[in-house]
Amino acid sequence: MAHIIAQPCIGTKDTACVTVCPVDCIHPTKDESNFDDEEQLFIDPENCIDCGLCVDECPVQAIFPQEDLPPEWSDFIQRNDQYYKK
Ligand code: SF4
Repeated sequence: MAHIIAQPCIGTKDTACVTVCPVDCIHPTKDESNFDDEEQLFIDPENCIDCGLCVDECPVQAIFPQEDLPPEWSDFIQRNDQYYKK
């Protein structure tokens, strides 16, 4: 299990979550060259430790523990995973 970033992040990309993540598993960061190209941020499911710190930082409530992800956004599980498989 991991945390998932869903639809509300698209066009928002606030990055407050990046700052608090203790294992640096949210990308792209503002320092990465592809930041402008990606429409949202993604959590690396291999490295997320499910600490939950990012959830309250998000100003648009885009982050969910996978088990609480609203069903209409279930495809974001794949989208987060895919980003790290490129
Ligand atoms: Fe990082 Fe914790 Fe959020 Fe996972 S739940 S992305 S480890 S801050």
